[in-house]
Amino acid sequence: MKVNFAEYIWIDGINPTGALRSKTRAVVLSENPRITDFPTWSFDGSSTNQATGADSDCILQPINFFSDPISDTNNTNNYLVLCEVLNSDGSPHISNKRAVLRDILEKGGKDFEAWLGFEQEYTMFKKNIPLGWPEHGFPAPQGPYYCGVGSEQIFGRELANKHRDICINSGIVYYGMNAEVMPGQWEYQIGYRDFTKEDVSAINVSDHLWVARWLLHRLSEEYNIHISHDNKPIKGDWNGAGMHTNFSTKDMRNKDIGRKAIEEAIANLKIRHVDHIKYYGDRLEERLTGQHETSSLNEFSYGIANRGCSIRIPRIVEQKGYGYLEDRRPGANADPYLISALLISAVSGIEFKAL
Ligand code: ADP
Ligand code: MN
Ligand code: MN
Ligand code: MN
Repeated sequence: MKVNFAEYIWIDGINPTGALRSKTRAVVLSENPRITDFPTWSFDGSSTNQATGADSDCILQPINFFSDPISDTNNTNNYLVLCEVLNSDGSPHISNKRAVLRDILEKGGKDFEAWLGFEQEYTMFKKNIPLGWPEHGFPAPQGPYYCGVGSEQIFGRELANKHRDICINSGIVYYGMNAEVMPGQWEYQIGYRDFTKEDVSAINVSDHLWVARWLLHRLSEEYNIHISHDNKPIKGDWNGAGMHTNFSTKDMRNKDIGRKAIEEAIANLKIRHVDHIKYYGDRLEERLTGQHETSSLNEFSYGIANRGCSIRIPRIVEQKGYGYLEDRRPGANADPYLISALLISAVSGIEFKAL
């Protein structure tokens, strides 16, 4: 009998931004387990803002799993098991935003065959200072840092690269990464990669992003670095951190009707701008100022290759006449399940119901 470890990962009930939690259990599984082979489990919801002490048991329902390249110290096949949180009667817990997306997909959203690609930005901190920043004052102004190279420009590449390798080894649909405009700030992308036979559906890509976030936090422990998903970690003339969301439907990717489908999607997004903004990340108003490659929170706009708009149509998409759009509004601390649910709701007309 071979005993392995499964790290059960879930999102807690902290408001307004859920945080990741996890705990480990021993499992005995076949060589190629399926998700249904992982047992359901429970946890103390009173310690995660998900229950009261008197009725504290919440259920962990495994829904997606990955190999765990981090804890494999003795060369075993350990797993990372992403879970939905359920109430004791089996209904989704109010903090379970994945259930919101599931609901829309089940009501017909699935037929739109949405593909997702998230660009997750984040900032590395040491103590309370962004990595590479002087203890007092500021570094040289923004300009040379984005996609830079060299020790004057780049801070934290070792961790960013390690995260890249770990994501790939765990089976995450990791697309790429780059150093960002503010020193100490980075981005990685999770989602569509133009590789055949890959599941880049909204729910799978959102699952993958949450596990990629968990892996980054987990790795940061080893570097004594803190990972911030704050939308505007440093006030003033410094870029905020976003989660641009690249989105396409079957029709948008269709050579013959793609352009029209993209235009229709944008028209629907325009009508719903205020509703979407409510769910696009905590303290988004600090980031969506109209400065620093963002649009204004109060206005909806779109443009081709324009990085000051709410929605950008990439130049190549405009040239080909079909493809995808980029929603530049979501903040770095947004929940990919909710962003996906809102986008699919906007193109399908299926009602978005926050739990
Ligand atoms: P940017 O130029 O905005 O920095 P990136 O190179 O960081 O763009 O990321 C491109 C993103 O576009 C990736 O997340 C990728 O998954 C996504 N993407 C590309 N094509 C599609 C598509 N057809 N549908 C959805 N997402 C797509
Ligand atoms: Mn990018
Ligand atoms: Mn970026
Ligand atoms: Mn982008």
